[in-house]
Amino acid sequence: MDLYGRLVHDVLFPGFEAARGRPTVGLMRDLDRTQWASADELHAIQSGLLRRLVRHAYHHTPWYKARLDERGLTPDDFRTPEDLHKLPLLERDHARGSIDARTSDAPPFAAVTKVTSGSTGQPMKVSYNAESRHWRDATRWRGYGWAGYRPGMKALHYWGFGLTVPDRKARWKMNLDRALNRNNYVDCTIRSDERLAEVVAEVRRFQPEIIVTYSQAGAYLARHVLRTGTRAWGEIPVIVGAERLLEHDRQAITAAFGPTFETYGSREFMLTAAECDAHDGMHESMETQITEIIVRNPDGTTRAARPGESGEVVITDLHNLAVPHLRYVNGDIAVQRPADRCACGRWLQRIGPIEGRTLENLRDAAGQPVGGTFFAVLFLYLVDHCLSYQVVQHADDHLTVRVVPIAGPGKLPAAQHQFIHDFCARYVPGLPVVVEELADIPPGPAGKRRLVVVEPRA
Ligand SMILES: [Zn+2]
Repeated sequence: MDLYGRLVHDVLFPGFEAARGRPTVGLMRDLDRTQWASADELHAIQSGLLRRLVRHAYHHTPWYKARLDERGLTPDDFRTPEDLHKLPLLERDHARGSIDARTSDAPPFAAVTKVTSGSTGQPMKVSYNAESRHWRDATRWRGYGWAGYRPGMKALHYWGFGLTVPDRKARWKMNLDRALNRNNYVDCTIRSDERLAEVVAEVRRFQPEIIVTYSQAGAYLARHVLRTGTRAWGEIPVIVGAERLLEHDRQAITAAFGPTFETYGSREFMLTAAECDAHDGMHESMETQITEIIVRNPDGTTRAARPGESGEVVITDLHNLAVPHLRYVNGDIAVQRPADRCACGRWLQRIGPIEGRTLENLRDAAGQPVGGTFFAVLFLYLVDHCLSYQVVQHADDHLTVRVVPIAGPGKLPAAQHQFIHDFCARYVPGLPVVVEELADIPPGPAGKRRLVVVEPRA
């Protein structure tokens, strides 16, 4: 870090946070310490916070009072994270419909309310109290810190900013934030060659010490850099998130910029897990959330996923007392990891890779779900011919495989066309397939590229 960067890190950032009444810096110090805690200590931290949360939710929200009462439970039945299974899952539809019933009638009240863009196309309102917000900020800084990112560093944020324009006051605050923290924000929604060349020019001019980017956007940019031979910098660590990171994306980003650090989070809960420099899965934010990976049994009951097994991501937000979320099913699928110590020395539980959204399941000709992730394998075979792809299953079940050929629309070789048809015939037999060649894949909500889009059946 240069001298100005140190000034921001040591003086301006803590002062700015304190002036806004935020204890972020103190919490960051706490988290710096607890990241090295033993498995027993981490378990104790989660148990204590869970007891407080369940007690508060039971006494101050009609929703959780009813959930415990109808099962004959009291808050005393929840001593450790292992007791969480006694509570029902909070499915997304129930979460949307129960916000009033889950809102606490006692302080702390909500300090922040925001709407999630909802990759399902169904926006949802999320509110939380100030304490929750401070833990979220501190947790994000810790996770980013594992990639070497400290407040005060020159950071290029190559991110999607959606369609909402902040009002003037919010914009002023945002600009101040950006100037103080030396952040440079570049929208990643448009991914044409022309635009990518502009972004490369910006990287050269700005000389960031760290890049934070959507996974797919970063991979696009990296492949552009490699294709055009325009790398003109040393190692720049890259923090990726928001979209799926496939292995060949990671390789491209690492070759074009520097070591790649995956993060996993959401607008609902912020950072749920982040990768350390051992690059072997992502560590859960155990001091702020309880993350469960669960598998549904055929009889409707659930069980914890075994190490190596993938399951649905279920989150309990430990610091949001204003509108508690206990066992929220966020729609993602992730691989559970063993509860062992990472090569980095931390006991924080690991998960990953994230295997995509449950909604990315396609339907076969009989209406049975088929994991859409197999298209990632298809793309591995096409990586020399295509820049990107997207698969859309329409209401009448037929598939459109959209590809962006490197040589340009209409230039995908016949053999690759045939390969796509053969591949689909093998994995989703009986479905009509149309291959569409485009100059770019149209972005979804908040500029996120979705690899698989499934329209509801007619
Ligand atoms: Zn680690």
